[in-house]
Amino acid sequence: MARYTGPVCRICRRYGEKLMLKGDKCVAKCTLDKRPQPPGAQQTGRRRKLSDRALQLREKQKARYSYGVLEKQFVQYYKDAVRQPGVTGQNLVRLLEMRLDNVVLKMGFVDSLKQARQVVRHGHIMLNGRKTDVPSAATKPGDVVGWVAGSKKSEYYKFAQENIGSKSFPAWVNVDSGAMTGRIISHPDVANMPTKFDPAVIVEYYSR
Ligand code: SF4
Repeated sequence: MARYTGPVCRICRRYGEKLMLKGDKCVAKCTLDKRPQPPGAQQTGRRRKLSDRALQLREKQKARYSYGVLEKQFVQYYKDAVRQPGVTGQNLVRLLEMRLDNVVLKMGFVDSLKQARQVVRHGHIMLNGRKTDVPSAATKPGDVVGWVAGSKKSEYYKFAQENIGSKSFPAWVNVDSGAMTGRIISHPDVANMPTKFDPAVIVEYYSR
């Protein structure tokens, strides 16, 4: 399945939930407040009853869209999560959270996951002192994320520098907003982390 490139608000309308796919923009103004009905549906406000399997699929799709991951990659994350010790659903969320694009977002260098993918893809980000242009690169506690020296003249960097003062950060990253670098200090506490989807239901979906 190719990466979805259409209007992202349609995805939230399809699932009837604010998935915050536009990042900080979603806080100021959300399409779902004005148009809560699914795309293409008449404005009856009613949604058809879903089977258990359809509900499981729905949770998996919400997770995929939340992290901008293709189906094939997502299956691989699930397989990796199964192989790790502990609770599979929590392992899955941890693996997704530790992707470099998500870490860049959580460090407040960008406003949305889409922008995070862009700055990484365009070669503006360093992981442990080395330029890394792979948004899916896996990170770990102790890793340091920062900007490539030559990118400090870019619009991306200027925008990030102007806005970082208004950001809040999760407890598992430590950001030096003056130096515009961040260190991952631990894995995210996924057991207590709110998600837009139910990881346990995703595990049920794949375990069938
Ligand atoms: Fe659009 Fe964000 Fe609202 Fe979703 S949460 S409908 S992406 S504005």
